[in-house]
Amino acid sequence: MNHLAIIGAGNVGTAIAFTALNRGIARHLSLFDINRPRAIGEMLDLRDGLQFVRPATIEAGDQISVCADADVVVITAGAKQQPGETRLDLAGRNAGLLRSMLPGLTRVAPKAVLLIVTNPVDVLTQVAIDLTGRVDGTVLGSGTVLDSSRLRHLIALRFGIAERHIHAHVVGEHGDSETVLWSSANIGGAPLTADWTDGRGPIDEAGRAWLLHQVRNAAYEIIAGKGATSWAIALAAAQILDALDQTTQSSVLPVSGPIDPDLGLGDVCISLPRLVDANGAGPILPLIATDEELAAIRGSVAAVKATLDKIR
Ligand code: NAD
Repeated sequence: MNHLAIIGAGNVGTAIAFTALNRGIARHLSLFDINRPRAIGEMLDLRDGLQFVRPATIEAGDQISVCADADVVVITAGAKQQPGETRLDLAGRNAGLLRSMLPGLTRVAPKAVLLIVTNPVDVLTQVAIDLTGRVDGTVLGSGTVLDSSRLRHLIALRFGIAERHIHAHVVGEHGDSETVLWSSANIGGAPLTADWTDGRGPIDEAGRAWLLHQVRNAAYEIIAGKGATSWAIALAAAQILDALDQTTQSSVLPVSGPIDPDLGLGDVCISLPRLVDANGAGPILPLIATDEELAAIRGSVAAVKATLDKIR
């Protein structure tokens, strides 16, 4: 990638910048924040480490022109959850921010893929699509990529098997109504619901409910402890950025984007496993889900839509 722009140089934006530099994701990185001293400070700090990463240049500022001609823009600017506040509570404030920012951004970086990270991410992805008119997958949200990683980690701990062998997706809203596609979750092809002769599985209903509760509430616990979440979302964003840089191979990631009307689930952005590559968020994979899982996904669509109806 030639130019990765990050809007918002707070906890999340800076963690993404650091991770992107470490992984050599872009040749040029720009940071835009209305808090100029913060943006400049982060830029100078990151520049001091350039000896240790793949060659890159870094600019920062409080003028949107710093994002000019970006290939991908990651949007992390905005208010964050306060302790006890849900992601949907943030919607009105952060939608206003998108409305004021997007016209200038699309003027200076008209071809950039927009990756929305600011919460509530599904609502804001839909708002960004409405504002830009781009329904082609080049506006997408980080969705439940992070939540799925949280789930895989917990399953990895329970089974004593490395995360990379665990295939399980958290889907729906990145938030309190999200759910897990248990019916397709597996470890090396073995369903989590199967009897494991060594007693590790199956994960029974109570176990599944506990795991979902832990995943849904992970952010609240982290925010109560350190005031924000940053590192895991940065790694999740880097994974999406890697996928967005691939022209020959697609990745499967539960990013947030418009859902196919043929699925009959609704018409707002939520996360389902879909293909991601240099064209952005592509087709949704064939959905293997029980009636209960489909009902939970519809619940997520309703939650996102209810918030959108309040702020549109
Ligand atoms: P933060 O307060 O540390 O940083 C936000 C930054 O945005 C600040 O530096 C602020 O100056 C800047 N900003 C505000 N308005 C701006 C504007 N109009 N233009 C440019 N910059 C502006 O917050 P954070 O902890 O970095 O969180 C950022 C967002 O990311 C929050 O909405 C948070 O909920 C979200 N988040 C999402 C996920 C996810 O999985 N999608 C995970 C973690 C955090």
